[in-house]
Amino acid sequence: MSFASEVRGELARLSMEDACCARSELTAALLCAGGIAWRGRGRYSITLTAAEAPTVRRYFAALKRFYGIVGQIRTVTGDGLNNQTRYQLAVPEGEATGLLEALSLLDGAALFGVRPVPLEEVVQFACCRKSFARAAFLMCGAVSHPNKGYHIEIAAPTEALATFIRRQLEYFEINARVTLRKGRHVLYLKRAEEISDTLSLLGASRAMLAFENVRVKKEVSNRVNRQLNCDNSNINRAVSAAEAQIRDIRYIDGEIGLEKLPKSLREMAIARANNPEMPLAELGELLEPPLGKSGVNARLRRIGAIADKLRSDEDIEL
Ligand SMILES: [Zn+2]
Repeated sequence: MSFASEVRGELARLSMEDACCARSELTAALLCAGGIAWRGRGRYSITLTAAEAPTVRRYFAALKRFYGIVGQIRTVTGDGLNNQTRYQLAVPEGEATGLLEALSLLDGAALFGVRPVPLEEVVQFACCRKSFARAAFLMCGAVSHPNKGYHIEIAAPTEALATFIRRQLEYFEINARVTLRKGRHVLYLKRAEEISDTLSLLGASRAMLAFENVRVKKEVSNRVNRQLNCDNSNINRAVSAAEAQIRDIRYIDGEIGLEKLPKSLREMAIARANNPEMPLAELGELLEPPLGKSGVNARLRRIGAIADKLRSDEDIEL
């Protein structure tokens, strides 16, 4: 099962307690699913079609409980390329107009008498705003599995409806972007935190936790990999620096003998030659008196400069 259907499955099974939210959800579901058809002379037919049965059962139950309407559930098979079975809830013809009236969707001035976006009163309370966004996601939403990438979207059939849905999300400080794709106005979010916030706003807390789990694992393993790469390159740098120092020390010894070096540099050279892999700070502790990392570094650089001068036959002052 895809992550998107898991999310929808969880949302579809949430309880619907308040009449205000039931009204908001049903309004969003009808408008997003685009299943309101005009039959002429003030008559309408209403269907809600969804990919999963629990979604349709959710609205079947809401219609019955809050509006006393007993719908009919049937399966429909897609046409052409998309042969998937879908589930459809049909509102009895005699009840359709009354339902639109109850949802405040009738408007004599609108095309075919139905508003393309709901009245503000439908999202009067914060709970209803959430409900609206939830139904919009249930009917035309999608979300990627966090392993595949971060993406959540709601593909609204009209620009006006997309704007309306976006405002509901904005109320909760979730700022979706909108793009036009195949004639649909798609609200989407790409950042992991935004997706997580959206899932939890819609009420998919189990899915949100699953999402967070994957995201944290991914981030930890990215961080560990970055850290390992970084450590490795630091180690490589340190090793090649130490190799160069030892080459210089051997060269000086071969050309003029280490005993020609001042005491401080001689001791340093001997300590390094005997401990090729020791970090600078530890090398400094071998000296008498002990020396800090930057002091060790300075002495090793002076040794390197002496070796360079010897190689180029320059005069050296020791
Ligand atoms: Zn409400």
